[in-house]
Amino acid sequence: MASSDTPQESINLQGLDRFRRTKSIVSELGDPEVEADVIMTSVALGFSAEYIKQTGNTIQFDIDPLDASLHPGKKIAFEAVVKKISHAIVKYLSAAVDQSSKVTAGLSPGYYPGAVIMGVYKLAGKQAPAFVSAPALSKEGQQLWERIRTLSTPQYTGRGAYTGFVDNKNVQGDTRPVGPLSTARFCVPRKRGIDPKPHPRWLPAPSSHLWNKRKRADSNTLVPWGLIGGEEAGKLLRETGCGALNGADFVTISMRNAGMHFVDDIGTEDIAIYTHGMIQAIYKSYSLGPNCEPYEIAVGDVTKKMSSCLACTLFMTATGYPPNSIHLGRCESWGPLYSPYDPTGNADPHEAQVIRDLNNTWYEKCSVWLDIGLDILGGNITENHLDGFEAVRKYLLAYKHDPTVSATLILDSMTIHASESERIERTIK
Ligand SMILES: [Zn+2]
Repeated sequence: MASSDTPQESINLQGLDRFRRTKSIVSELGDPEVEADVIMTSVALGFSAEYIKQTGNTIQFDIDPLDASLHPGKKIAFEAVVKKISHAIVKYLSAAVDQSSKVTAGLSPGYYPGAVIMGVYKLAGKQAPAFVSAPALSKEGQQLWERIRTLSTPQYTGRGAYTGFVDNKNVQGDTRPVGPLSTARFCVPRKRGIDPKPHPRWLPAPSSHLWNKRKRADSNTLVPWGLIGGEEAGKLLRETGCGALNGADFVTISMRNAGMHFVDDIGTEDIAIYTHGMIQAIYKSYSLGPNCEPYEIAVGDVTKKMSSCLACTLFMTATGYPPNSIHLGRCESWGPLYSPYDPTGNADPHEAQVIRDLNNTWYEKCSVWLDIGLDILGGNITENHLDGFEAVRKYLLAYKHDPTVSATLILDSMTIHASESERIERTIK
């Protein structure tokens, strides 16, 4: 009965432990871009609906005020996307919930050098800062924030640069703030060792058309999967001044030159992931105790959005630190930590356990959100995404006993680099 492209079979046949090497994310014949659209749109819908149900509050998605004033067209398109989310959710939520304006489009806090994004630890009764440009910090936290925002301490300042840091208001034990925690690049662990063993990640089959764009124009070699800018490999460059001869290597070298820490070497049998500063700050906050607050500071002059990406938002909310503002831009090759990492050299012995616990909580919430989101999307999907929708459903059903499968599909989808609002726009009717 089963056709040869059922996901179960392709994994079993290849006997692969670390990767699923299908052409598309959950199927052999589907379109990976469409499957990624379905997965990311569903999780955005499921997350929003759950948030409204649990808190009774409005969920707001924000656009950068600078972007909104410079490009009025972008603002209109963004509001249309949020309206689509809102319509789909209103249909889904029961009459018991007052649904009027429960999903709204807004403006994120304005950029100001040193302005922060905060993970608001609701369980400990924390509040979002009244002014993101002047967070209420401890004395030592204030000094560290100053050093980070004035770039007086080495950190990554290139594309997408946000620096994580933890304000530590503990009065006993370890009272030092932590940072700077810049986005760092890792590879998906080569051994799927920790408990529960994560579902194998998707590395496109060698015959997938996705590799065409990752062939370096100057050498015919491949750029590893997941690398930000990998799609630019076919662009031949000359005289870049940094030694890069194609667009992909130019992005990588620029990131390294702007101070990003490349923790692991990435080969063509690896997948690159990037762990944002806020996520590192949450693991740290959690291991240091409830008087710690995770922040992210926009640094450099490339990034001015004062809100969290969808991927960070999911992790932050799952672990109890929802962000003060959410955007629907790109979260390219986002990843959590899988083992302790501390660029400041102060790793805590409990961190491996904290990482395991927080990742498990995030796995759990991803399953809930993706399931609900697929239910919502079902009645609102565009025609050309129907096959992808069915393929994702079928795959999740086949692996429903694996608690990590949903989170893994979300991570896989984020290796297809696109803006979340554009994905949602083309997926919801
Ligand atoms: Zn992020």
